[in-house]
This record gives sequence, structure tokens and C-alpha cells, in this order.
Amino acid sequence: MKCGETTGATNEALPASEAVRSARRAPSKVGWLANTHSTDPLEYAGAAPHASSCRRNWRSGGWPPPARNLPVVLDVIRLPVITCEFACSAWRRSTIVTTLMLAPFAGGHSQTLATNDPIIQQIWAIGTDSSPLPRLSAQLFDSIGPRLTGTTSLRGGQDWLVATYRAFGIPARNERYGTWRGWRRGYSHIDLVAPRVRSLEGTMLAYSPGTGRRDLTATTIILPRFADSTAFVKWLPSARGKFVLVSAPQPTCRPHDDWAKNATVAALAGMERLRDSVQREWGGAGGAGGANVRGTGYSLARGTGELGLRLEQGGAAGIITSSPSGGWGTYQVNETYNRRAPAIVLSCEDYGLVFRLTENKQHPAVRLNLDARLMGERPVFNTVAELKGAETPDEFVVFSAHFDSWDGASGATDNGTATLMVLEAMRILKRVLPHPRRTILAGHWSGEENHEVGSRAFAEDHPEILQGLQALFNQDNGTGRTEDIEAQGLPNSAEHLKGWLATLPPELNAQVQFDGEPGLPKTGGSDDFAFSCHGLPTFRLGARVWDYWEYTWHSNRDTPDKIVFEDLESNAKLAAMLAYLASEDPAMITRERVDLAAEAARRGSAAVPTSWPVCETAPRSTLPRLK
Ligand SMILES: [Zn+2]
Repeated sequence: MKCGETTGATNEALPASEAVRSARRAPSKVGWLANTHSTDPLEYAGAAPHASSCRRNWRSGGWPPPARNLPVVLDVIRLPVITCEFACSAWRRSTIVTTLMLAPFAGGHSQTLATNDPIIQQIWAIGTDSSPLPRLSAQLFDSIGPRLTGTTSLRGGQDWLVATYRAFGIPARNERYGTWRGWRRGYSHIDLVAPRVRSLEGTMLAYSPGTGRRDLTATTIILPRFADSTAFVKWLPSARGKFVLVSAPQPTCRPHDDWAKNATVAALAGMERLRDSVQREWGGAGGAGGANVRGTGYSLARGTGELGLRLEQGGAAGIITSSPSGGWGTYQVNETYNRRAPAIVLSCEDYGLVFRLTENKQHPAVRLNLDARLMGERPVFNTVAELKGAETPDEFVVFSAHFDSWDGASGATDNGTATLMVLEAMRILKRVLPHPRRTILAGHWSGEENHEVGSRAFAEDHPEILQGLQALFNQDNGTGRTEDIEAQGLPNSAEHLKGWLATLPPELNAQVQFDGEPGLPKTGGSDDFAFSCHGLPTFRLGARVWDYWEYTWHSNRDTPDKIVFEDLESNAKLAAMLAYLASEDPAMITRERVDLAAEAARRGSAAVPTSWPVCETAPRSTLPRLK
């Protein structure tokens, strides 16, 4: 008998509880980690990933393990499929832990359960006992890192994804859909060199030109307020050869909740007034939201936008931005379309320092040494994995989770955790449902951060999947456990979802909020929209938020230490169960849409769209977002 994904690298006996704990920690003994020393981003991509082996514990008691350790396994052994993985790991875990986790499924109590479905029981058991999530996390976030569309890092990640699926015995492929601007991020060294020396906290924006690995030192200038765009053009020569500070200086870098908790009523009110006036003055949150920043007539959309290009054209040496997320030490790392003048983002605190020195006429000088390469248009891909349907292969249940990320950190919660959730759900399903009734697809899109490009292209390229779509489950809001699911405007989706949720184990059923209503169609924001805009059954697996917006979303702090593995493991099991239920459901979800006019009248709300949202065509090469 061969346990799935074993390394054979370690065989020492560990106490059962220690084995479980060690699987939770960063794996330190398995072979793949040696590959992380490689300088070639693709080297580990072809290497089969390895679990900490369930075989390591066999030696302590031989195989099969003594019956006294298997009260629950003996009960579950009547299930149609028993994998080595399940059996090994049940043996590995202590009797107490196993009994706690599987007690709801013990035969003696099964009549009291909301489910006694054997497949759901196995999904729960395999997802609980043999989770490779910490190991996959280390591979994806520590070795591969962020996955900005157009970068070699994304390509390396996609090859790793395909190799990982294949190691699980699941066919997978990278599917080309167009090109996007290629870019390589190297180092960012940013220093204040006058009037005093200090290394500054910051980094290049995505897709920024570098400085050719040479020092570029310049003084700074604040973008003033202009009466109109003519005044801006007249001012432009004074920015020549300078770094232009284009973002609002925040009056405080303390998070709002710190003020709310500690300030006097008067001080809090004063700070809120000040913040509001700064935002108004600079044209939006962080100075990046306005279409007419400081009266220039140009926007800093998603980084530096058209204003960055205009400043570059006018001879500016570079652009300095600030986009704090609202939490301590956290800022978003957005993008630029500049091709010569580099654009950087500084932390809230260091941007404030440089801004005040400039404002106080202390003539600060900043030195940049940036390594980056603009690589022109490069092919871009989605990664797709598939469990072929045995009865109706032309009907599809689709997992949807974008694989690309911004690259200020590791893209762990946006959207690495949903990526791992899908990967793990597919691994479990391959074990318990290798021949589903309908085809189960995993769609790992790229280009989501560039306006859902990959998923839109996939929907356009696969009318047969749109035609046969039974259900699509999308996740894209962080690491937390799934707590709400909506029917997104299809009454029959609501009916089916109600039935599926009722079949779940009580723990998961109680966790997921669903009001039973058809709900409203989404108008964008994530990849499910590429399908729901066609009026198809899609569901967002809404995650508990865990300070996502203030700390990890698009930020310099989106790192794997933020992952909540208990929630991630729960999400993978839930996703596998939902896909199983959708796949085996005797009936297809029908396509009637909610009556939007009736909903608007009933809700009396302007939030109800007046018509069904319209699909947008996917760009097949870089489409700049300058406004
Ligand atoms: Zn996302």
C-alpha cells in the first residue's frame, strides 16, 4: 500500500500528536525544501511536491495499526472508498483527536446528523487528516512569491500548479489567452540622503522602470494645486529632474480605531475633520482617487495613471506616491504605466517625512537604486485542472479563484488562500469522487488584478462550458472561513443551494449564512462576474474578513503568516462538499433571473441594478488603465 504524495525521506516514529503538530509547522525535513535554494524560479516547478509522509508513523506499531487505536476508523471502514491517506492519518492522530473530529460521523450517532452521506464523511476525514496546506503554502508563498500578471514569477507559479495537480493524479494545463506587459521586479533601494541620511520604507510600483541598477539622486517637489490644466502645463518645467510627491500627506499614520479608542472626543473630531479636508484637497483617499488631481486635469488611477505619464513626459526624474491601507505599517503597492521615470510608494510615515522636509524648504534629496526590467508583451495563461464527468461530461461544476496577485508582498490572502482551497478541494475530490457525474473544473485565472482579464477570456473561449455550467464557486476575499453564500440573482440557484447546505455536516451548515433568497446579481469585483454576467449560476464563498481591507488587500503585508490554516482547511472541505453536491445533483440549475423591477419596488433601494449587468469583452493584450 502506498500513501499519497509520500517522500520516503523521513521514516522516524513521532508521537501521534507531535506528528499532527509538526504537519502544522513549516515542513523542515522534506526533500522539496532543498529546492528553495535554487536561483531558477522554474527549478522547483517540475519537482513533485511531497507531504510529510504518513508512512513515518507506521514503524511504531506496524501496519495495520492495532485495532484499539481505531474505534472510529473501524466504523468508517464500511465506506465505499478508504484511501491509504485516510487510514494512515487516522492511525497517526491520537484516539482522542480522531474521536473529536469524527465523532459526528460515528455510526451510533449517524441518525441524529443532518447528513449521513458517505462521500461527505470522507471529504471531512481526508481534509482533516491529511491536509498538505502548510506545505503547499510554503512552496507557493515562500519559494514562488507574488504572481503579478506578465511576470516570470506568475509563469513559474503556473508550472508549479500544473505539476502539483499532476502529482495528485489530476490532469491540468496552462491555457494561453493573450499577452500582457512583461516585467521583472528586482530590488528597490530607497534612501533619504539630505538633509539627513535614512533608509526609507518603500518599493517600486508594479511595472515601474528601474534605474538600471545605478543611483538616481534628485531633490523633491510637491505637486501644487492648480487653478486649471493650463496652470499645470505652465508649472511642469519646474518638475524637470525632480522627484514629484503626488499623494496626500496623511495627518496621522495611526489607524482610525486607535484614535477612536484613545482620543478625547474633541481630538478625534479634530482629526477626522483634518483627514477629510486633506482628502478633499488631494482628490480622494490617499490622493489616488481623483480624476483631476490637484487641478491638473489628470488622474492617478491605480498608482500613477495618466498624471504619472504626463509628469514623465515633462521631464520629472520620478514619482513618489503614498497609499496607506489604514492599518499600522501597511500600504498598497499599485501600478504605473511610466516607461522611463520610476514610480515608488513610500510608507505613510516616510512619505510624511519627505513631504514635510520638502514643504519646510529643507531641500531633501532622495536616492533610488532600482532593478527592474520592462519586457514587452508576453504570453499569458490561465491554469485549468479537470476531473472528467462520468455521466454528463458536458455539464460543469467550476471552482474559480484568481491565481495572480499584486506583488508588494506574497499574495497570500489575495488570492493565494483561495488558490490553495481549490487545490486541496480537488485533491480531496480526486480521492473520494474520481469519477463525478458532471465534470469538475478548477479555474485558476490570471489577470484578475488587471480587471478580470483571464476569467473573461476563458468565458469567451469556452461557450461549451457556459452552456453546460451547473454551478461556479468563486472565492476572493481573504483567508477566513466561509460564512456567507448568495444565490446572486437566480431563484433556482437559491433552491439548489438550500438543499446542498442542508446536506452539510452541522458544523459547516451552522457556519454558512444563507437567507434563502434569490438575491441580486453582482456587478463586478471578482471573477465570478465573467460568468454571472451571462446569467449563469455563480456563488461567492464569502470569507470572514480578518482585517483584510486594512492589512492584506493589495498590500506590503500580504504574507503567509496571515493565513489561518484552520479556516483554510475548513474552506477546502466545504468547497469539496459543495462541488460534490452540485456535481451529483440530479437536476441542473435553471436560468430564470430575479425580477429586478419587483426587487427594487420590494426593497425600495437604489442598490438594485435596473438591468442585468452586461459582460465586458476581455482585452487580449495590455489595456492601460490610466483613468
Ligand atoms: Zn483578489
